[in-house]
Amino acid sequence: MGNIQLKNVNKSFGNVAVIPRIDLTINNGEFVVFVGPSGCGKSTLLRLIAGLEDTTSGTIEIDGRDVTGAAPAKRRLAMVFQSYALYPHMSVYKNIAFPLKMAKMAPAAIDKKVQDAARVLNLTSYLDRRPGQLSGGQRQRVAIGRAIVREPSAFLFDEPLSNLDAALRGNMRLEISELHHQLKTTMIYVTHDQVEAMTMADKIVVLNAGNIEQVGSPMELYHKPDNLFVAGFIGSPK
Ligand code: ADP
Ligand code: MG
Repeated sequence: MGNIQLKNVNKSFGNVAVIPRIDLTINNGEFVVFVGPSGCGKSTLLRLIAGLEDTTSGTIEIDGRDVTGAAPAKRRLAMVFQSYALYPHMSVYKNIAFPLKMAKMAPAAIDKKVQDAARVLNLTSYLDRRPGQLSGGQRQRVAIGRAIVREPSAFLFDEPLSNLDAALRGNMRLEISELHHQLKTTMIYVTHDQVEAMTMADKIVVLNAGNIEQVGSPMELYHKPDNLFVAGFIGSPK
């Protein structure tokens, strides 16, 4: 579970090819970072994988299944958004339990999953609070908790830390990395921040104007950038 394949994917808005042609394989359990300057197509690529946008042409496979054109709910992926979109009138517990309740899971089973997620996310002592009584970082963790309980094949993050201050961002970066170590679930993480990319990724995908400039580990990109764009972006001399 958690294997994602993009084959010959094109996304055009009108006659503008925002993503001219991308082939990409993401392996089960990898922490993959899409990095590149603002407007290069990171969010669009993530939204194509999530099913929030349809490809203009090409195919997307998840765990060997062709999901091209399938609704987001059919893809078993969890998208964690920039804005947390928690229910302000519900407790943390109810926010995390919500998707399971919607799926009509039995209360005892829901309780086990919520407690397990809360433990992983250090939210056990906050379950009775409302989102308004939490810090930004804690709210972020509740949003992740709501995704965890659905046991997705992969987590998709679109610049999840950009609303947080610098100190908290550093903390959350570590927490998300730690979460990946614990869950070992595929994560795709979009950022325009080179430091985030270099410190969090198993594999970095460098995007420029909708094209992949290079795919590699942080060390590969740093020591062997394929071109000046990658060298400049990652910050190594070439
Ligand atoms: P990033 O996330 O890397 O900043 P985006 O994926 O949001 O970039 O956008 C890539 C390009 O696609 C930008 O030029 C943006 O204006 C364009 N774009 C994104 N969504 C739409 C849309 N719904 N309609 C038209 N153009 C869009
Ligand atoms: Mg974006």
